[in-house]
Amino acid sequence: MRFLHELIRWYKLNHGIGKAMCAAGAEIMACPHCGDGTPIYRSAYDSGGTPLSFTVCLWCEGFIEYSPTLGRPHEPYASARDVRLERRQSKP
Ligand SMILES: [Zn+2]
Repeated sequence: MRFLHELIRWYKLNHGIGKAMCAAGAEIMACPHCGDGTPIYRSAYDSGGTPLSFTVCLWCEGFIEYSPTLGRPHEPYASARDVRLERRQSKP
């Protein structure tokens, strides 16, 4: 099962969604949650420095914030739960 898992992972990264994400500007970096390599986009920031976008890890589905100025991906300052709550509140 371990081999199959690795094969699916390799396929995802090289041919599936991972390839599409890299083509769209993501870079493969270690996830700050599970430590596995996953395509990560640079977060977009507003003028006040608040992150506007996050990448979701392909493997653990954790939220990842990545600013090139910091140089490494990290957990968003707001928890995934906060982000979800905020989204729910902003919906009409
Ligand atoms: Zn992860």
